[in-house]
This record gives sequence, C-alpha cells and structure tokens, in this order.
Amino acid sequence: MKKVLIIACAVISFVMLLFGGSLCSCAQSVNNNQVIDSLINITRLNDKTLMIGLAADAVTAIATQKGIVIIDAGISGTLTSHYRIIIEKELNRNDFVYVINTHGHHDHTSGNSAFSKATIIAHENALKEMHDRWSDTAKVKARLKNTVKQYDVMLKGLTQGSSDWKEAFCQRTRYNCAYEDAVNNVEVRYPDMLFTDTLHTSMGDVNLNMIYFGKAHSESDIIVYIPEMKMFFVGDLFFKGGRPSFDTLDKQQVDNYHKAIEWIAVRSSESDIVINGHGQIMDKGDMDSFIEIVRKKIAELY
Ligand SMILES: [Zn+2]
Repeated sequence: MKKVLIIACAVISFVMLLFGGSLCSCAQSVNNNQVIDSLINITRLNDKTLMIGLAADAVTAIATQKGIVIIDAGISGTLTSHYRIIIEKELNRNDFVYVINTHGHHDHTSGNSAFSKATIIAHENALKEMHDRWSDTAKVKARLKNTVKQYDVMLKGLTQGSSDWKEAFCQRTRYNCAYEDAVNNVEVRYPDMLFTDTLHTSMGDVNLNMIYFGKAHSESDIIVYIPEMKMFFVGDLFFKGGRPSFDTLDKQQVDNYHKAIEWIAVRSSESDIVINGHGQIMDKGDMDSFIEIVRKKIAELY
C-alpha cells in the first residue's frame, strides 16, 4: 500500500506566505485552487483503487471493468471536483458509473454533484436524511459558517506551521468549501438508485455487495464489501479505538452495530482491510478491539 502525501512543509510555507493571517476561501481563483490541490492527500490502496481527500474527507475511486466506482463523495461539490480531476489523471479514464454513499450525512454526500453522469446509490433512508438537511438552507449556511469561525479562532491560538495548525488549516479549508457551496447554491445531488436491505452489482472483475443492518450511526449506514479486493467500506460505523458517540446509543442501535461487526468478522481474514468514511484503514486487530467495545456495551444495556 503506497501512500503519497502531497502535504509538505514547502506547501504549508507556500500557503502561509500566500495568505499571511487571512485564510483562503474556495473561490475560483488560480491561487486558491493551487492551495486546495496542494493540501489533497492521495493513498493508493491497490493497483485499481485510490483514496483521495483533504483533512477528514475520504473519497475512494475503484477502476473496474464496467467503469469507475466512487465510494463516498466528500463534504463539497467544489472540493470533490478537484478530487475528480486527480482521479481522472491517476486512472487515465473518466467513465464514472456509480457513486455509493455509505450514509446520508452531508460530509459523505455533498460531493455527489461532482459526478454529473454517475448514478448515485444509497440506502433509501439517506434520501430523507438529505432532504431534512437541505429543507433549511439558512440553517445549513449558519452551521457551516460557525464551524469555519471556530477553526479561525483555533488557528489564532496555534503556532503557524505546527502539526496542529496544519490539521486545523486543512479542516478549515474543507468546511469553507462546503460553506461557499451552500452560499453559491451548488447543486445537491440526491441518490437515484435506492435499496432497502441489500444490493449486489457485478462490475465484471469485481462485485459490489451493499448491506444495510438498521439504524446505527445514522438511519442509513451501509457496508460495501468487495470480496475480490478483500475490502470492506464501513462509512462512519467503525473507527480505530471506538466512537465517542457510542455512549448515547440505544439497545437497537447497539444490536445493529453488533450484527454489522459480526457480519464482517465471519467474512474477513487477516489480510482484509476495513476502510472507514474518514480515511482510517483498519485491520483485523482494530476490528477485534471494536467487537470488544460493542460486547461491553451490550453487557451494560442488557
Ligand atoms: Zn456520518
């Protein structure tokens, strides 16, 4: 697995030089586009698969015999358009056929608009989650603006160029792109292929198996399993070391987590990897640790 980190000290110095105290926006100027491109990470998962993102965004592109499949689309259509251009260059093709949303949250679906010709696949509940969010655009804008402001405050208290500063700067850039998309009415693309329990699609050389286990992190979490690549894509269900929100889950949600993690456990071997919706790559050991957290929670609740 080869990881290509485009963030470099030189780039951060360039960003600092360019903006001094005032941070960048996602507006379409050459310099701002250069800054965004300089902050994007590319991780090669195998010879057919790339994961691309900026800060907590993680957009995966899989080159299959029947076209490119995208798993999760990121927080901003504008930002994901940058990812799309990189994917086209790296894979030397642009036949995007499917975008799969692992759930309906905006930081996984707002980039759908960057893939205008692809069919968007999601669980049926994702549609309602997205409509609920975008029914009040003023609220969306206010929330995103507030998040950007919080990062501005955080950045003022950090040493420029430090690792914490770089991380906050990237997150600030990411949220600002989402905010500007909302202000500029960038299209929200809703899923157009929905399923209830499972969906299986052959892409020629690989099979996409999509499974819903019930409400867990959201109302619409699915797992995408690609057996030929030994990969499970789990959205925001699983993170290394557990999830802070786990304490607030009810019995049904914890049971659904249990079903999902057991489903993975019986199918995976030591060489399989689990990739979450924010770019963490987990091995069997990480998942075994999560199983213990789920079992502990079940013991508490029953
Ligand atoms: Zn989420």
